[in-house]
Amino acid sequence: MKVKVVSILEDNYMYLIIDEQNRGAVAVDPAVPHRLLQIVNREGVSLVAVLTTHHHWDHARGNEDLLKEIPGLRVYGGDDRIKGLTDKVTNCQELKFNSINVRCLFTPCHTAGHMCYFVWEDDCTDSPAVFTGDTLFIGGCGKFFEGTAEQMHHNLTKVLGTLPEDTKVFCGHEYTKRNLKFALMVEPENQKVKEMLSWAKARDDDDKPTVPSTLLEEFEYNPFLRLSNEAVQKFTGKTDPIEVLRVLRKEKDNFKKPKDRVPAHAMMALEWGLLQS
Ligand SMILES: [Zn+2]
Repeated sequence: MKVKVVSILEDNYMYLIIDEQNRGAVAVDPAVPHRLLQIVNREGVSLVAVLTTHHHWDHARGNEDLLKEIPGLRVYGGDDRIKGLTDKVTNCQELKFNSINVRCLFTPCHTAGHMCYFVWEDDCTDSPAVFTGDTLFIGGCGKFFEGTAEQMHHNLTKVLGTLPEDTKVFCGHEYTKRNLKFALMVEPENQKVKEMLSWAKARDDDDKPTVPSTLLEEFEYNPFLRLSNEAVQKFTGKTDPIEVLRVLRKEKDNFKKPKDRVPAHAMMALEWGLLQS
């Protein structure tokens, strides 16, 4: 199973999952359709489905154009607000596209209809993958726009946190460097955070993506998955995991985003990104 990682817009990712045996492909959050179609053509595959994590513009804006371009295309998602939705899915529903298997994981909080997608391939020894949209980021988690700390706690610990540890994590945005700066403030002594941050800085300098990570790695440096860790509890002044998570997210909301290195023309998109993700 091959996953093409495509950087789009200000800091979004869209993905193309390729079934190499059958030359079929499934896209995740293809918000820049003409670029997706270029890749589909270059790879010589046929796009059969779109998986949409949530209805926000920077994830779902490409669906209607793709439906016009590809007759018979199916667009899956868990929220009626998703543009171009053809098939509404529910928690634990499984989809199959030749040898590509998808389990839909309902993860409401960032939006009320957010879905993550756990993907694996038949007869393949590759690690499975999870497409987490704006629920779990590398080193962080999404804003609670339409949900509660209780819901995000369930999403992170019971839904995503119980997947196999070697699962590759493909998230919706490149926020890794900023997330790890926050993680370092939360856990100044965590060596894994330090190592990951310097690696993420080098990737950023080379203009390369930091996805995917693995769930096992996330458990080592992502404070939102380390709610029972002593340093994380100390930072938040709480011990109950849901309260720890609530305070962490609030502190992250107030954590200043560096404004350097951002060209003026990107500021509007950036402000929009701040609101939506
Ligand atoms: Zn979003």
